[in-house]
Amino acid sequence: MLYEINEKIIELERKGKKIIKFHIGDPDQDTDPRIIDAALKAMKQGKTKYSSAMGEKDLRDALAEIHGVNADNIIITPGSKWAIFSIIFLTLEKGDNAIVPSPHWISYELILKKLGIRAKFLKTEIDSEWKIDVGKLESLIDEKTKLIILNNPNNPTSKVVNNNTLEEIVEIANNRGVTILSDETYSEISFLKTKCILDFDKNHILVNSFSKTFAMTGWRMGYAILNEELKNKMTKLNQITITNVPVFIQEAAIKALELKKEISRKIKEDYQKRAELACKILSKSKLKFSRPDAPFYVFPRCEEIDSEKFVFDLLEKGVAITPGTSFGDYRDCFRISLTRPDDEIKSGLEKLVEVIG
Ligand code: PMP
Repeated sequence: MLYEINEKIIELERKGKKIIKFHIGDPDQDTDPRIIDAALKAMKQGKTKYSSAMGEKDLRDALAEIHGVNADNIIITPGSKWAIFSIIFLTLEKGDNAIVPSPHWISYELILKKLGIRAKFLKTEIDSEWKIDVGKLESLIDEKTKLIILNNPNNPTSKVVNNNTLEEIVEIANNRGVTILSDETYSEISFLKTKCILDFDKNHILVNSFSKTFAMTGWRMGYAILNEELKNKMTKLNQITITNVPVFIQEAAIKALELKKEISRKIKEDYQKRAELACKILSKSKLKFSRPDAPFYVFPRCEEIDSEKFVFDLLEKGVAITPGTSFGDYRDCFRISLTRPDDEIKSGLEKLVEVIG
């Protein structure tokens, strides 16, 4: 669907139409120049060679300190997406299944499908503020369940999983011998503080990313924290595929971590303001929505619409969004990504409200 939307945008733009793009989760903020300088400096120092498939020790040490773990349990990956793919590829086999609370980031579904692994979706609903029903989650576990993929905060709902629910999920996973893969890509910039999966139990897996926290999507920097056995398998997979994440990118990542407090606070503040603006405008419509706990998205619902059709109707008016069907069985929902400046959020959402009524 995203492909068709992009094609339509290209066609409309070719005709001279201006499109406000709320359909991708790529922040409009620039990467901080100090991070760029760190990469340039490293390149000029000759850090342009092959290197460790596990990642640079200095970067792993810095992350180890932040997370209170051993650097031997950390692997650096080109974006968190590669970490997620590698973990699923290396830990599940055909016939196994993974539980995925839904709505969900579509890549989980596509990766599982590609690898012949069954996804068991656990639907959550806007009427219960997208909360995970722990009893339902437990009832989905069978002898072939190997993984629970948590996304906290969630894309597309921007809701966080509360600590009690997290604790219960960890308890169930431990009792039933299932590993949790916790994708916490949006956690550092979450408006509501949320606990890391490793705060409950270090036997589960954390995946995180520099993409959103530092507006570094194109740099491809992510990492996973996991047991040494799996880390070694991932290192071997890196050796035969990507070789290593470029060292100058990792040097930039070290600089980003040094500046983390300052940069992540600014990004969080920007998106908090945007979320408030969006909620204010959307509340003038008949849309039902839950206030975001984190950047970047709002995921409203309107029982009367078929979002796959609505997306194209709205595109004709100059606003691009993503249909709910791109995140699971949510035809009457759609995702708005607030990764555009305030003036575009204002005019784009006012147009949306005008169309939807
Ligand atoms: N997890 C989630 C929930 C995401 O939304 C995204 C990107 N949209 C990613 C992971 C991938 O991020 P990265 O750029 O680190 O691969």
